[in-house]
Amino acid sequence: MARAWILKSRPVGMPQMADFDLKDIGDQPLADGQIRVQNQWLSVDPYMRGRMNDVKSYVPPFALGEPMQGGAVGTVTESRNPAFAVGDTVLHMAGWRDEAVVGMEAMPNKLPVDMGLPAETWLHNMGLTGATAWVGMFKIADAKPSDTVFVSAAAGAVGSAVVQIAKAKGMTVIGSAGGAEKCAWVKDLGADAVIDYKAGPVLPQLIEALKAVGKRGVDVYFDNVGGDHLDAALATANDYARFPICGMIDSYNSMEPLQLRYAMRIIAAKIRIEGFIYMDKFMSCADEFYADMGQMIASGAVKARVTTMNGLEATPDAFLGLFTGKNTGKMLVKL
Ligand code: NDP
Repeated sequence: MARAWILKSRPVGMPQMADFDLKDIGDQPLADGQIRVQNQWLSVDPYMRGRMNDVKSYVPPFALGEPMQGGAVGTVTESRNPAFAVGDTVLHMAGWRDEAVVGMEAMPNKLPVDMGLPAETWLHNMGLTGATAWVGMFKIADAKPSDTVFVSAAAGAVGSAVVQIAKAKGMTVIGSAGGAEKCAWVKDLGADAVIDYKAGPVLPQLIEALKAVGKRGVDVYFDNVGGDHLDAALATANDYARFPICGMIDSYNSMEPLQLRYAMRIIAAKIRIEGFIYMDKFMSCADEFYADMGQMIASGAVKARVTTMNGLEATPDAFLGLFTGKNTGKMLVKL
């Protein structure tokens, strides 16, 4: 009997366990064009918080009482689609469940297992989070080796990819993360300096970090957090800095308006601030991404770390853990 997590109620502020319910969804027969997939890995991602609100956005909200969606990797156990055979490993969007009936709307993709990468890599460095880091750096920020890059949530999935990609391309990198252990890991990834935002305010630490790496200011701020991090980046931006605005996790559960003391520097320093959804740009550069990221993974320049939660039951906990920093690297659920 297949089971799936449904959204029971729309969260207000930080989601609670009571907002989710694990439901039997039965053994549905396959229609033409569908495949049945036994999921092995489920991704939880901060953007899912936005889908829990009933608001217009770049993806529709999760329907109440229905299985939620998200990235997943699994094995085909039954197929009524000639493009997929029993035994294929596929990436698709029918996550939050153990067994999925996958039609074209869930965008199944057969994975190139001959590349020898662990299947879950397609949920992080070769998947959404790695592509987000790469697109943000090269298609939004036009990052170049001489740049000084500041990246927030640097011990997370996207952030740790940004740190490693930037170092692989010869940039100077300052990362920010919460806690000494995460900061030590970001340093191990190659960051030139690290800020522990939980140990004190961001701006003075960023000024110190810039001094320590011998740089005047920030050329690229890769924003995963918003709030004080964005403000500190504005305060320290060099002329013509570029800010790829990837996420603002500091605001996702907040009821407070975002306040920026240094917003006027957008004008004075002629900063280019550009929000992006990775998928919009990805289609036109997917081959370039796979070649470049594949090479960086093969050479060891980009490594992966996964925080694994075990069992379908753990999925909401894994999701909620993103907002309390439970993950180092990519948060995944292993079934
Ligand atoms: P992460 O793996 O980075 O997990 C979230 C991390 O954010 C936590 O581990 C925590 O790390 C940090 N965090 C949580 N709350 C706060 C806070 N209030 N202030 C500072 N840090 C906080 O998630 P992802 O890598 O998947 O996503 C990173 C960002 O990128 C998110 O904002 C996400 O929405 C965005 N995103 C955007 C995409 C796009 O196309 N634009 C696509 C994918 C992701 P710590 O312990 O260091 O606090």
